[in-house]
Amino acid sequence: MRDDTILNHDKLYPFGAVVPPLYQTSTFGFESWEALDGAFDDRTGTPIYSRQINPTVRLAEQKLAALAGAESARLFGSGMAAISASILHVVGHGDHIITIKNVYGPTSTFLASYLPEKAGTSISFVDGADLSEVEEALQPRTRLIYLESPSSAVFGIQDIRAISEMAHERDIRVIVDNTWATPVYQKTLELGADLEVHSASKYLCGHSDVVAGAVIGNKQDIDSIAVREGELLGAKMAPFEAWLMLRSLRTLTARLDRHQRNARTVVDYLDSHEAVAEVRWAGLASHPQGDLARRQMSGFTGLLGFVLKTKDVTSVRRFFDSLQLFRRAVSWGGHDSLVYAPAISYLKEQPPERFSELGISVGDIRISVGLEDPEDLVQDLKQAFEAMS
Ligand code: PLP
Repeated sequence: MRDDTILNHDKLYPFGAVVPPLYQTSTFGFESWEALDGAFDDRTGTPIYSRQINPTVRLAEQKLAALAGAESARLFGSGMAAISASILHVVGHGDHIITIKNVYGPTSTFLASYLPEKAGTSISFVDGADLSEVEEALQPRTRLIYLESPSSAVFGIQDIRAISEMAHERDIRVIVDNTWATPVYQKTLELGADLEVHSASKYLCGHSDVVAGAVIGNKQDIDSIAVREGELLGAKMAPFEAWLMLRSLRTLTARLDRHQRNARTVVDYLDSHEAVAEVRWAGLASHPQGDLARRQMSGFTGLLGFVLKTKDVTSVRRFFDSLQLFRRAVSWGGHDSLVYAPAISYLKEQPPERFSELGISVGDIRISVGLEDPEDLVQDLKQAFEAMS
């Protein structure tokens, strides 16, 4: 089945219900010792307790796996729960990891300080645009290459196929954070990645009302993640969140299509604006990695960045505070347009050298283009530019 059918076709449920039931239950009852004993033998098949398996969550997992062209998926209580579980599944004590310097902040902290402290791992950061740079970072103990393409801060792209081929020749595993593109626009497992991870809090759930995460991959990996990191760390997705996710997945392709169209209108406006030094969106014809972007993605979503020419914080703040439709908030990928200025957190958390090393400056603005009328969004940006000057 093709994506739209996977997301919209369902069997009939009890009483002919066309929508799957919400199994809002913590535990499941059995007729006998023998039946419960049998369920324990089948650790990844029969629901016993909802931290392990819940039928509503399982349905959402199956839909997501089918969409990504994968054998299996496991849903978590947040993107970070999914990301940390997938990394812990792959690496062991003393292993070396390669990742990109613009990887999502808490992922970077997990890889660069939490894991080294707790498990003696080491880390190398690369730009990610160049295969030879990744090869040069290899060490005898390299076990994992962790990618995020496009990255959610500066929208850099990594060649997933080339990096995965190089990694597999050396028995190194590849995880890709595919939150930006979603499995609709980028099939990372077909490109060669071993595991795909998501903050499902973004487009997959899409209404700014759920925090959730996903790991997608082959059955062997996902079964192992389910019974080890999943059950033992316990950050499982709750049934109601899965039910909301199933509801959201039905409109995923339609929403993405509109996010992409709206983003194009906004990008066209920003790209020709005299106060803007640069627009960062993978769908832009002039994107420095445009060929690679079009080769490994079939569409582009609504999260983008632009850099104001001014480096005067007061002017940047005036622009930011003048926006009326774009809400000042973290996160992205929902129906509603949001704006964020990376300088707000980077100036607090990072030493200034690191701030510019990451390719971020005071004039960086990130917007998540929602489903409002794009002309209204352009008007909102226009009045904020006027207020700034
Ligand atoms: N990956 C990316 C690219 C993100 O932007 C985020 C959150 O903003 C995460 C992972 C973490 O996801 P969550 O907030 O659902 O834990």
